[in-house]
Amino acid sequence: MYQHQYTDGTKINLPAGKVVCIGRNYAAHAKELNNPIPTTPILFMKPATALVPMSKPLVIPQDKGAVHHEIELAILIGEPLTHTTTDTAQNAIAGIGLALDLTLRDVQSQLKDKGHPWEVAKAFDGSCPLSGFVKPETFPDLTNISLELHNNGELKQQGNSKDMLTSIIELLVYISNIFTLQPGDVVLTGTPAGVGPMNSGDQLVASIPGVCEFNTSVR
Ligand code: ZN
Repeated sequence: MYQHQYTDGTKINLPAGKVVCIGRNYAAHAKELNNPIPTTPILFMKPATALVPMSKPLVIPQDKGAVHHEIELAILIGEPLTHTTTDTAQNAIAGIGLALDLTLRDVQSQLKDKGHPWEVAKAFDGSCPLSGFVKPETFPDLTNISLELHNNGELKQQGNSKDMLTSIIELLVYISNIFTLQPGDVVLTGTPAGVGPMNSGDQLVASIPGVCEFNTSVR
């Protein structure tokens, strides 16, 4: 069973909730997949059953085409948020970590062509490996957090929250005006450019440079 925890392994006393994801929140990533840059955030969700600890070897579907990595800043919600304001949203953040929004890219392309929702490509069991969380006070400025993903020693994805089309706090406000965010929910804030396929045996390193680094592998 997945359990939220801090980077030092201490358990966080919050349930594993839903995962709310944002599509195309970095313009450079929207462009690399030939998608238009959205004018409002694109939302989709993964159920709690998508959550797995990033520290364990990742089990990915073998018979559904390309499985892409999308490294994302993950926001752990500690207080209920309904129709919230920016101040309340800021104070409700219980932790900041890294997630992989694993995506069946070939399946997603077919769904997009048909105009269908993306969950079949995005919400499968194990589709959201999640790191330990860093306490929010570690980050004085949520609009300047770097993130990186290396695969087999090669830098694949690199970004900074300053390049988000909608900032972390604005996203929480936006989401909470559509549905309630509950303690234990996680918000994935979009991926920077450089998404690509993962294969068995890959060695991944996800990091917030200077703050935390997580090693994992693809089984
Ligand atoms: Zn994503």
